Amino acid sequence: MTTTSVHTALNNQTVKQLDRKGVFYSWSVQGSLDPLVIKSGRGCWLWDYEGREYLDFSSQLVNTNIGHQHPKVLNAIKAQVDELTTIAPSHANYARGLAAEKVLARAPAGFDKVFFTNGGADANENAIRMARAATGREKVLSAYRSYHGGTGSAIAATGDFRRVPNEYARGHVHFFSPYLYRSDFWAQNEEEEAVRALQHLRRVIEAEGTTAVAAILLETVPGTAGILVPPNGYLAGVRALADEFGIALIFDEVMAGFGRTGEWLALDHFGVTPDLITFAKGVNSGYVPAGGVLISEKISRHFNDSMFFGGLTYSGHPLAMAAICATLDTMEEEDIVGNAARIGANVLAPGLKQIAERHENVGDVRGLGVFQAIELVEDRATRQPLNAKAMGQLKAAMIERGLLPFVVANRIHVVPPCVVTAHEAEQGLSIINDSLASLR
Ligand code: PLP
Repeated sequence: MTTTSVHTALNNQTVKQLDRKGVFYSWSVQGSLDPLVIKSGRGCWLWDYEGREYLDFSSQLVNTNIGHQHPKVLNAIKAQVDELTTIAPSHANYARGLAAEKVLARAPAGFDKVFFTNGGADANENAIRMARAATGREKVLSAYRSYHGGTGSAIAATGDFRRVPNEYARGHVHFFSPYLYRSDFWAQNEEEEAVRALQHLRRVIEAEGTTAVAAILLETVPGTAGILVPPNGYLAGVRALADEFGIALIFDEVMAGFGRTGEWLALDHFGVTPDLITFAKGVNSGYVPAGGVLISEKISRHFNDSMFFGGLTYSGHPLAMAAICATLDTMEEEDIVGNAARIGANVLAPGLKQIAERHENVGDVRGLGVFQAIELVEDRATRQPLNAKAMGQLKAAMIERGLLPFVVANRIHVVPPCVVTAHEAEQGLSIINDSLASLR
């Protein structure tokens, strides 16, 4: 039997049985990875083995910015497969040099190097080590509302207590960032929030020792924690504190970077430049695992030949590099970042606001570009998070209607690929609206 005929013989049930034997270890955010069987995809769409189609409003953990199976990226990967598929990072390689240039071209002025990794967590691992090497200090401060990856230092930096193995988190200290409940239904004062959060951060730095902190690591726009767009002045205030105390500032752009917010990097919205930037996911839309660290000259001037950074065997893997080059070129040619900005501003943000006006269970709407979220509450008076049972029903209702959402806790993260059309965005909004109505 050829591979093709094996595939033809499969259906949703047989694939589910195979996957559920427990051989493949799977993990789920409160059940938010869905019991779906996915066979194929194209653009914003996914299909199962029985031909059911789903609008992918999750982008597979906010990853496929360019959409599924983009022919230009697939062709570039195929061409690279024919030429060379593995190369040690000690040898010069054309695809890697080209990818490094293209990634660096999106960084702010003052950045002169890029180190490639295999994903987001090891990008953060390496950025932390670079900050420690450059400052000669140990401690790392990161926000409570954050996710930085599942490896040693990255998970220790992660502020979400459900996942942090605290016993391994030595040298990592968490601070409060502003929590923006940017809802029209409550009065708020963004700038006050920023000032309060910055005062807290200063106290944390002083408590840890003003010459002890190597790095402040934060997501420019926290993603998994709820797509929390920072208030005016907050990131600039963090930058000022980092400068005052000689601390390296790392922006984690693994989820928010490379087009999702309607700018190449999320930091472009705020005019604040960190010392290190980590990236992954969107840089090649996850077609081949890749990530990396953009390094400013301020940090890289401390490096010498004996500095060693990890994940080396596959660092700059030719297939990942080919996918990065093709993804970034295609995003430029097809104005995909512009599309994310337009769809976000003209369709998703106003559409979600309308949904909020219709449904009492929507407490908050927020985001940038195709990086939006709605927060579900029991009712607007109490702002209590909507209970888990109702969230489960809501998720099932969306899937039943053909929408694959990214649900975390009491939030629906509205994160379609950056190539989503206005029509597809409206289809998705209509399913979210109908699903909310079905809760009553
Ligand atoms: N940083 C952020 C902001 C993320 O959202 C993620 C993954 O969701 C990571 C780091 C970890 O990336 P990876 O899963 O590629 O290790």
